[in-house]
Amino acid sequence: MSAVTERVGTHSHIKGLGVRNGEVLPVGDGLVGQVEARKAAWLVVQLIKAGKMAGRAILLVGPPGTGKTAIAVAIARELGAETPFMALSGSEIYSAELKKTEVLMQAMRKSIGVRIRERRWVYEGVLEKMDVRYDRHPLNPYTQVPVGGTITLKTDRETRTLRVDSNIIYQILSKGISEGDVIWIDEETGRVSRAGRAKGYGDYDVRPRDLVEIPTGPIYKEKEFVYTLTLHDLDEMESKSESILSIFFGAPSAKEIPPDVRARVDKTVKEWVETKRAELIPGVLFIDDAHMLDIEAYSFLSRAMESELSPIIILATNRGFTKIRGTDVEAPHGMPLDLLDRLLIIRTRPYTPDEIREIVKIRAHEEGVELEPEALEELVKLGSEKSLRYATQLLAPARLLAMQRSRSRVTKEDVAEVSQLFISTKESSSYLRELEEKLLK
Ligand code: ATP
Repeated sequence: MSAVTERVGTHSHIKGLGVRNGEVLPVGDGLVGQVEARKAAWLVVQLIKAGKMAGRAILLVGPPGTGKTAIAVAIARELGAETPFMALSGSEIYSAELKKTEVLMQAMRKSIGVRIRERRWVYEGVLEKMDVRYDRHPLNPYTQVPVGGTITLKTDRETRTLRVDSNIIYQILSKGISEGDVIWIDEETGRVSRAGRAKGYGDYDVRPRDLVEIPTGPIYKEKEFVYTLTLHDLDEMESKSESILSIFFGAPSAKEIPPDVRARVDKTVKEWVETKRAELIPGVLFIDDAHMLDIEAYSFLSRAMESELSPIIILATNRGFTKIRGTDVEAPHGMPLDLLDRLLIIRTRPYTPDEIREIVKIRAHEEGVELEPEALEELVKLGSEKSLRYATQLLAPARLLAMQRSRSRVTKEDVAEVSQLFISTKESSSYLRELEEKLLK
């Protein structure tokens, strides 16, 4: 699992800012407390929707673990279900393989979605019958391999038998497609996709959401597909010159995208938008520990904010007055003044035990962890003394312990035990500091 998906996964319970008719609910859309920050964030969402955030960005300031990421995620959710959300830590720009500005550029382009409508010629129908032709393996005479065959497809209007090559047969076999499934075959790429089980076919035990209607009309037809990709996906495809579908197979690698590739992608996307074949969905780029960025990165970001293809940029920091990296200048949050001038700053506050209790409850529910009341209180205590993140991270190991002891609910003892086994960042760093001091003596 990549760092990004992991970070987003811990916020999967957040569906929005929890604001109704301009009023912040104490608990709403998965968010708890932080009422002022949520109200401010809600106003920001209105500004974005009204197109009044151009050239500006948001800065979230507050102690670690006070929900800065959570609020950024909620802003993205408020902007629409498909709004891309990309999280980056300021330190991630110092990568061994890529230039700092390239890391930022890629992050920006991963934060902009492109919803593409595409018409492709396909064969679509219920797979009625399949006859596979086998032959001896060219290298091993003792094995048989499929070399082709025929498939019979059916819609409400017609039935057709098609001759297919080994590639299509392989896909059908390896994707576990069976007779009675609705499939479509892309004429150009030969890719086979399964839509689900045709209603009324066979007595199989299928989950209701797997059931699909029998296709209507001709078997060979033009079909509309809607994909949502990011500008970065398109950059990668353009640099590899592959088809849209390859993005779902090919493993993207960390490499620099040449500027002319991006220029070509921008030009194409612009044409698609003008001809209504695509729509842009500007997303949210969240940069945590923004004080780790340096002067070069800041000037890149300031310039990028001006461009028409900019995502919403949300910076977060827990630093007050500090040096701007790459200079000897001290400034608020270690950020250059011209950038500070364009920021709307939102503050997050430490949580009260009651708020921690609510958040732990929501996370436990989200992760399917059942807690005894005393176990919950133990986690609230740990959350207040150490950190909220520490408390929520103990949920999964505590559940595992309980399961190994054949209990469905986590007890206070389970929590106490995992908190002995796993220590908080505060403890781990002071442990090493003590050791170092002893060694230096
Ligand atoms: P920060 O970015 O300030 O360091 P964070 O958003 O990353 O904080 P964590 O400390 O990782 O927050 O929070 C632990 C867990 O609690 C995460 O799953 C997060 O989504 C959740 N959480 C934090 N704040 C809230 C909140 N106000 N309401 C609901 N859940 C929250």
